[in-house]
Amino acid sequence: MFSKILIANRGEIAVRIIKTCRRLGIATVVVYSEADADSMAVEMADESVFIGGAPASESYLVADKIVAACKQTGAEAVHPGFGFLSENAGFAKRLADEGIVFIGPNPKAIEAMGDKIESKKFAAKAGVSTVPGHVGEIDDAAHALKIAADIGYPVMIKASAGGGGKGIRVAWKPQDVEEGFPAVRAEAKASFGDDRIFIEKFIESPRHVEIQVLGDKHGNVVHLFERECSIQRRNQKVIEEAPSPLLDEATRAAMGAQAVALAQAVGYDSAGTVEFVAGQDRSFFFLEMNTRLQVEHPVTEMITGVDLVEQMIRSAYGEKLAFGQDGLSINGWAIESRIYAEDPYRGFLPSIGRLVRYAPPEEGEFGKTKVRNDAGVREGDEISMFYDPMISKLSTWGPDRTAAIDAMGRALEDFHIEGLGHNIPFLAAVMDQERFRSGALSTNYIKDEFPEGFIGVPPTDSQRDLLAAVACAMHRRLTARAAPELLRDEWVVVAGHDRRRVRLSNGGDAFQVTFEGDRAVTLTDVDWRPGLPLFRGALDGKPFTASVKPAAEGFVIRHRATTLHVLVLTPRSAELHEKLPPKKAADTSKLIISPMPGLVVSIDVEPGQSVQAGQAVAVVEAMKMQNIIRAERDGVVKSVGPKAGDSVAADEVLLEFA
Ligand code: ADP
Ligand code: ADP
Ligand code: MG
Repeated sequence: MFSKILIANRGEIAVRIIKTCRRLGIATVVVYSEADADSMAVEMADESVFIGGAPASESYLVADKIVAACKQTGAEAVHPGFGFLSENAGFAKRLADEGIVFIGPNPKAIEAMGDKIESKKFAAKAGVSTVPGHVGEIDDAAHALKIAADIGYPVMIKASAGGGGKGIRVAWKPQDVEEGFPAVRAEAKASFGDDRIFIEKFIESPRHVEIQVLGDKHGNVVHLFERECSIQRRNQKVIEEAPSPLLDEATRAAMGAQAVALAQAVGYDSAGTVEFVAGQDRSFFFLEMNTRLQVEHPVTEMITGVDLVEQMIRSAYGEKLAFGQDGLSINGWAIESRIYAEDPYRGFLPSIGRLVRYAPPEEGEFGKTKVRNDAGVREGDEISMFYDPMISKLSTWGPDRTAAIDAMGRALEDFHIEGLGHNIPFLAAVMDQERFRSGALSTNYIKDEFPEGFIGVPPTDSQRDLLAAVACAMHRRLTARAAPELLRDEWVVVAGHDRRRVRLSNGGDAFQVTFEGDRAVTLTDVDWRPGLPLFRGALDGKPFTASVKPAAEGFVIRHRATTLHVLVLTPRSAELHEKLPPKKAADTSKLIISPMPGLVVSIDVEPGQSVQAGQAVAVVEAMKMQNIIRAERDGVVKSVGPKAGDSVAADEVLLEFA
């Protein structure tokens, strides 16, 4: 076996690879950029090598620097993780020339599959069913318009070198092609340094189902069943699971066989994923093959018990696969939630910054379920604008799908992050939705279920009780400490528009809240003291965790996707409180503000100009993504704030209407 491996990546995947290497007794080297000098991966690896500036183009994407780091440290092999150089055939060849092993497929397989246009041609030849479209490059918008018309709308414009949901746009009409073609092209150039574009039919309301394959250098290929990744925003996965609730045994076998056939046809010899779009009728079409480890590989590991990173290392070393297809089976169900530094309340836009607080749920086995958290950050670390805004991947396993979902719901409650916007309330909302729980998924899920965007979820009856009980318990502990003479039993709980008289009683460790009508709930196992951001307890015996913080008056409490401002008042103050005029929000309708921090690419209007609702007024780039900012109403521009090239903060005014 190798004695030393270099990891040409960062963040959670670098940490993930180090963990397996440690178990196998292999020493590790990580390379790091300026932005990652104090990272967890650097701390964990046996050795680390500085390779340059924060932009990936100055560090993680520079093959020369990776090769030099191998020579300097004597690493015999490179694991590229995902992203960066992981699907770069030139890099794999270069390593081979230098006598260093690439822990991934052979360069020919990467070349054949690593490019969307080429791989579609190849798959079609190998008899795999592909999405109808134009399998070839498109030169300009006029050509794109013609092809789109030939295929028939809606179509999807895609960067051939695209990945990570970047460089993809749906066009419903010619105008979308006119706008989208140059945008995708610019994004492709910026993100992948390759601006070849193609167009294919957009399959409406599909599901994303993919097959994990694994090969060795002796001609053996197996599949490790499917994952479903239909919960996506911006064509990028956010919740994944294995197996898929869509598939039956026959479809699973057919998809698996096609994926293995394709892998065998290209001489595939590592871990890889064959992605399909599937209809609700279980028809399926090949999308692309990712010739690398996949972000969502933990769910496959959890249902098969196979460590995919270990298998990649073994194959790369030349070992034969230790199992055949017959040796693999599905055990239980696993769900993965990608925890992103993005604000679900603002259209999932990146929200970067420092992890002022970072406390993930405990990992391990809990009764019949398991929790795993793949992270590369610690409290105090920064989620930088230079890389992917993923904070961690939280995975849960249960004997069946419902158990895995329930375990995820609980684990998300116990995940505490402060300092930046994150998508935990959104993920929690999905875990509670009937449609998700029933398995009726589609890639439109988020658009269907949150048509106005995510604004949180109103409390259920039991959550109303829970929030009231939590507020009362906190109020009582604070009062007991600060002004015990004010302790009393009769209170009014005001939560949003809801006001309820309650009676509190303390009996030993239990804390009882009686609502009007004499219905009572009991709070036990309370684990909270003033200053703690998480309130743990059990309501009528059911364990829960709520995020709490003191507000101007009362508390802001979040349980799963529900957030409420809750006040605990004496009956007399409650009366006065009712008479207060409601606070008015500032009038921002005359302003267009930047929805996220980023770089202004262009301001497309000038003072004095009339604009119409929906018109593009500016382009702001963040995380390598170009976001078109549109006017929400008609108006005449009075003034413009920043200019192209300026950096803007979230909520910074871009322009003002007269
Ligand atoms: P998966 O298909 O494994 O779910 P994604 O498609 O979301 O993964 O992308 C995997 C990771 O790699 C993400 O962090 C994404 O931003 C990054 N990524 C994907 N393709 C590239 C690329 N060509 N260059 C740089 N980063 C990439
Ligand atoms: P990436 O390399 O970014 O992962 P993919 O080609 O795999 O790009 O597409 C990403 C996602 O976009 C898919 O998971 C799927 O949801 C959606 N998608 C891609 N192609 C189509 C299509 N032709 N019709 C409908 N949805 C599609
Ligand atoms: Mg994909």
